[in-house]
Amino acid sequence: MAEFEGALSRRTAPDRLRVAILNTCARLLILVVMATATACGSSPSGYRSSGTLIDSAYGGRVAIYPQAEILRERWFGSPALFSPPAIANTDIEFFTVTGTTQAELIDGLNHSNLCTTYQCLPDPAAPAGGIAWAIGGGFSSPGYYCYSPATTTPAFRFLVVLPRWSPTVYGGVKIPLVEKWNALEQVIYTHEATHVAIAAQDLAQLIDYSHNLASCQAVINFWANPSVFDSLNADQNAFHARLRADCRPEIGCIPPGWMGW
Ligand SMILES: [Zn+2]
Repeated sequence: MAEFEGALSRRTAPDRLRVAILNTCARLLILVVMATATACGSSPSGYRSSGTLIDSAYGGRVAIYPQAEILRERWFGSPALFSPPAIANTDIEFFTVTGTTQAELIDGLNHSNLCTTYQCLPDPAAPAGGIAWAIGGGFSSPGYYCYSPATTTPAFRFLVVLPRWSPTVYGGVKIPLVEKWNALEQVIYTHEATHVAIAAQDLAQLIDYSHNLASCQAVINFWANPSVFDSLNADQNAFHARLRADCRPEIGCIPPGWMGW
């Protein structure tokens, strides 16, 4: 009952050059801000002095404003990165993506190789050869003993694998990128958590049914039947169908191009 998610979009424009420029400007800007602060509480000559400095660096006073915007956008740890809450009976594992631009993060997501690391089953919602940005699934314990149908409950556990990005505070990352990442991570989390909720509900029904079987042999036959999870898988696919009909981030779907993802 493992299943995987396909990437919904990919972008290719690298942004390295722009970041290099931002880093340089931000360092220069510290001088500008200090000079301006001094000027505000001091003599007109001080203001002219800072103005001269600004002019020499940027060729005009108006250049301050875009630069100040850049400094305000630099990420120093706030907002915090979204931390996926625990899910009952579920292991949450992570794969790492790195980068300081959205294009680099998308590239990392597209090269997750999740279905190489984990055994994935084809997902009707994902395009053939699709790229997984996260996976979710479930598995049962290898064996169980049956002393009576009513007391026999195979152990099930769920697994969710999510991307994790851990930028350094002084790594030149901008706040809007962190906000976009947090939004993406929450959508992915919502999607996989919904799969887990569907599976947990359906498994509870299957377990209830098995508890009422007539014999241990019937219980064993029930869980050994390859089609025992057909309804569960159908419900998971129905969730995808609902998202295809009504794709919204708050219910675990990434509309094409949403926030640049
Ligand atoms: Zn899914």
